[in-house]
Amino acid sequence: MSTDLPATSTRSYPVTLDDAEWRRRLTPQEYAVLRRAGTERAYTGEYWDDHTEGVYACRACGTELFRSAEKFDSHCGWPSFFAPLAGDRVEYLEDRSMGMRRVEVRCAACGSHLGHLFEGEGYDTPTDQRYCINSISLRRVPKQDSEG
Ligand SMILES: [Zn+2]
Repeated sequence: MSTDLPATSTRSYPVTLDDAEWRRRLTPQEYAVLRRAGTERAYTGEYWDDHTEGVYACRACGTELFRSAEKFDSHCGWPSFFAPLAGDRVEYLEDRSMGMRRVEVRCAACGSHLGHLFEGEGYDTPTDQRYCINSISLRRVPKQDSEG
């Protein structure tokens, strides 16, 4: 991952809603994570231990972001993927909050916060990357509904 990521997005997202509209559409918990870059507590989300086949879409805008085929057991308490469905589905920003330098992962369609990307941790996956994503940022779509 590039070391010179922007700290704030300059992208114009295809899906743009004003803050009041996001508040209306999302639950307070969803809003806190997706629109305020919060983090759900480990081992509390719907999908960290989910092994159902399917596609994970952005809970804010419905764009398909990750697949069960790239999901793996990281035992970190959040759903973990070693790659996104496609590279252009997510956006990367530098996050220097909490005294760390991390790579924030956002939905490239609506700019909602998904989680963080870590790499070089030694997981036995094809990329050695871990997209550590909040369950509440995603909604699993059954496989048959996402095709065609
Ligand atoms: Zn989105």
